[in-house]
Amino acid sequence: MTVTDTPQAADIPRTAEQWAVTARNMPIQSRAFIDGAFVDARSGATIDSISPVDGSVITSFAACEVADVDDAVAAARRAFDDGRWSEASPRVRRETLLDLARLVRAHRITLGAMITLDAGRPISAALGEVDHTADVIQFFAEAIDKTFGEVPPTATSAFATVTRDPIGVVGAVVPWNFPLSMPVWKIAPALSVGNSVVVKPAEQAPLVVQAFAELVAAAGVPDGVFNVVPGMGETAGAALGRHRDVDKIAFTGSNAVGRLFQTYAAQSNLKSVSLELGGKSPQIVLADAPDLDAAARAGALGGFVNQGEMCSAGSRLIVEESILDEFLIKLQSARESWLPGDPFDPETTMGPLIDAESLSRVRGFIDSGSASGATLFAGGDSQAPAGLGGGFYLDPVIFTDVDNSMPIAREEIFGPVLSVIAASDADHALRIANDSRFGLAAAVWSTDVRTIHKFTRRLRAGTVWVNCYNKADVNVPFGGYKESGSGRDKSLHCLEQYTQLKTTWMDLDV
Ligand code: NAP
Ligand code: MG
Repeated sequence: MTVTDTPQAADIPRTAEQWAVTARNMPIQSRAFIDGAFVDARSGATIDSISPVDGSVITSFAACEVADVDDAVAAARRAFDDGRWSEASPRVRRETLLDLARLVRAHRITLGAMITLDAGRPISAALGEVDHTADVIQFFAEAIDKTFGEVPPTATSAFATVTRDPIGVVGAVVPWNFPLSMPVWKIAPALSVGNSVVVKPAEQAPLVVQAFAELVAAAGVPDGVFNVVPGMGETAGAALGRHRDVDKIAFTGSNAVGRLFQTYAAQSNLKSVSLELGGKSPQIVLADAPDLDAAARAGALGGFVNQGEMCSAGSRLIVEESILDEFLIKLQSARESWLPGDPFDPETTMGPLIDAESLSRVRGFIDSGSASGATLFAGGDSQAPAGLGGGFYLDPVIFTDVDNSMPIAREEIFGPVLSVIAASDADHALRIANDSRFGLAAAVWSTDVRTIHKFTRRLRAGTVWVNCYNKADVNVPFGGYKESGSGRDKSLHCLEQYTQLKTTWMDLDV
């Protein structure tokens, strides 16, 4: 990517063909970024990056291993210790990160095309992800000189302060489903308070983070402060998790790997670990929902947006029996807005799943749903859009007659599969909703203020939506109850994870 500060507005691609040409012609950064330089893995090993759009190989990128992670962590530690960023004035850090937000906006087209090419997100959604990423960086940049420490009350013989120090070297290990914004939810707050960062992007879609590294350097973040070590989770990810000189791991991904990071911390230096994990979020539609058409549209969106590859997917639709038949007709028609198409077409809402393994895992859940007695109400074909034969497409699925004990109601499927569960009344719906090991998000549709308050109080989830789904902004926290994780991304609250409290007590009597 050629770094420029001029928005790429002159030749915005408009059609699927133009976007595909843009994606084919853009320069791709395939190396690791360590201590301010793009480098190959020490071993010279590489991994093929496959495009889920058509199954083609985009490039081979550096496969970092323990030695490369050691290099990156050492660079990050040197930078942290000599204060080139950790002790830079708040104004310098703020202006640098504001420049980074500007650069992200200026490279909207390339970054968006890269997200679509490498991760398969439909281009309109990918562009939205880039815009959101710039907003997140700007939010944390602006917060830098607007957050303060405390002066607790003391006797006049003493003066005490409570301040927040950066933690040191932060390792961010992230998934592929939002390949730019998930990393930046961690990178932006971590950098804003002065930490150094080492990112391990997901092996399925690392390229946009490597492109982002060029912008971080161009914005003037000093060498060593920001590093990217692409590679496999079992090697590069585990090396970061086990590293004795990494002070904190910020992880987003599956529950199984989240558990491993707690183990890595226990086996090494007891680093702090925050976990944003999966979910099986309920969307509850009660008989007094204000607008059943809107509830059906939100229901489909909650299940199918981002191909259902959403930690916060509203994959359990719990509907009061008395309106179930009417609701299902509306849901069936709302599903039609989510049929798979060419991800480079700006009208497309549903792209391919990330890879062949994922498609076959989701198909396994579809088989299990039918085998356990649920009714396959709609979808399930794997027909690729014309010309995209090698991609991993799936017609979004609705199961009805689902019991909350079935695997399709208990396990995170991470694909476009909605399980509709009937509830006899509101209390029954609430019991079903909370009967899950997860607690990332939930939604309730009702017009009764008493019902809404009762549900928002009792739903055991980090986010509760009322009469909507999936609404958010950078200034509200996001994270899970129960096995959906610990810690929060976004909002000023997340800064608590990237800082540690220091008490200073001065005796004025001596
Ligand atoms: P994943 O398999 O857990 O991978 C996440 C990251 O961990 C990747 O970078 C992965 O590397 C790495 N990793 C894998 N195995 C590892 C190991 N043994 N040691 C160290 N690191 C390892 O998750 P995913 O399939 O990429 O993403 C989907 C999951 O993310 C879903 O469960 C979803 O719910 C969750 N998610 C949660 C949130 C949230 O905010 N709560 C947001 C988005 C996604 P490689 O895969 O490259 O090998
Ligand atoms: Mg890929």
